[in-house]
Amino acid sequence: MGPKLIDPFHRAISYLRVSVTDRCDFRCVYCMSENMTFLPKKELLALEELDRMCTTFVGLGVEKLRITGGEPLVRRDIMNFFKGMTRHLESGALKELTVTTNGSQLEKFAGDLAACGVKRINVSLDTLDEKKFAKITRWGRLTQVLAGIRAAQKAGLRVKINTVALKDFNEDELFTLAHWCAEEGMDLTFIEVMPMGDLGNEDRIGQYWSLKDLRAQLETRFTTTDLSEQTGGPARYVRINETGQKIGLITPLTHNFCESCNRVRLTCTLELYMCLGQDEMADLRKPMREHADDAMLQQAIREAILRKPKGHDFDYSRQKVDGQVIRHMSHTGG
Ligand code: SAM
Ligand code: SF4
Repeated sequence: MGPKLIDPFHRAISYLRVSVTDRCDFRCVYCMSENMTFLPKKELLALEELDRMCTTFVGLGVEKLRITGGEPLVRRDIMNFFKGMTRHLESGALKELTVTTNGSQLEKFAGDLAACGVKRINVSLDTLDEKKFAKITRWGRLTQVLAGIRAAQKAGLRVKINTVALKDFNEDELFTLAHWCAEEGMDLTFIEVMPMGDLGNEDRIGQYWSLKDLRAQLETRFTTTDLSEQTGGPARYVRINETGQKIGLITPLTHNFCESCNRVRLTCTLELYMCLGQDEMADLRKPMREHADDAMLQQAIREAILRKPKGHDFDYSRQKVDGQVIRHMSHTGG
């Protein structure tokens, strides 16, 4: 199928994140407004299109697929898509199939995911306090998510917890969360809140808890060491020397991770975003829908990769939100 996907900055693109729906059963305050207007269902890519698109990317050298959203596990019949992807895992072309989920549907689907060859999942969870959980997710129930996490572990899935660091919200839970993850054998990664979507009444600068400060708080009790581990993604890792626990830090705002970026993102309406923090995108609907054979689609993907920007421009440093991107995280897929 020709050479692999290489962008203008010599980065090989081997990782595709796909948002399979913009819908969600939660309304996390930093991600969605309370009264979201979702896309009409007919505008979403069909599951057959999703399979064809992912298969084409795998043919072009993508080795890792992460399914996200919105909440990917609320999409009807999504397990059929996962079942379809097992053929690429079995052939060895696809090395990893993973999901990022809010955990609400895991009790139902953890076993099926494991049976489809999913080995690791990311579960987003910002607090272990039921009331705070209800406040931050607006519609979520902590007990349901914790039951989902247990089901995932029982099914043999390795769970990583992703926590958005939020000032005056979960600062006081830093050690509780770290301890809980260590006890449960789960990795933990903190994410800085990003200026996505229509901010409305939300105060992103007020919510912003820099991971530099988070690490300083960690170091009031422990010593930490930087790990050199590179995933091609935005996470950097530190080890707590006293316990050996490894903690991931995703710092889009204080650390520029773009130089090693190996990923692109496909939305549920077949737009390919070459960078989470830029509006540069390619509409793959036409090449997908107007041509039954994949040559035009492959060409459109290759052309898009040649437009991948060098990096993003998020910046809070001047006490205003710079580099803000209007679309919501649930649209591009976090
Ligand atoms: N619904 C799934 C979930 O919550 O894991 C998948 C989609 S969600 C958009 C993916 C990730 O993006 C979650 O970990 C969420 O916390 C994160 N996220 C959403 N909005 C964000 C923002 N404004 N800044 C930083 N992370 C954000
Ligand atoms: Fe839904 Fe995930 Fe966004 Fe929360 S972060 S509203 S769970 S898509």
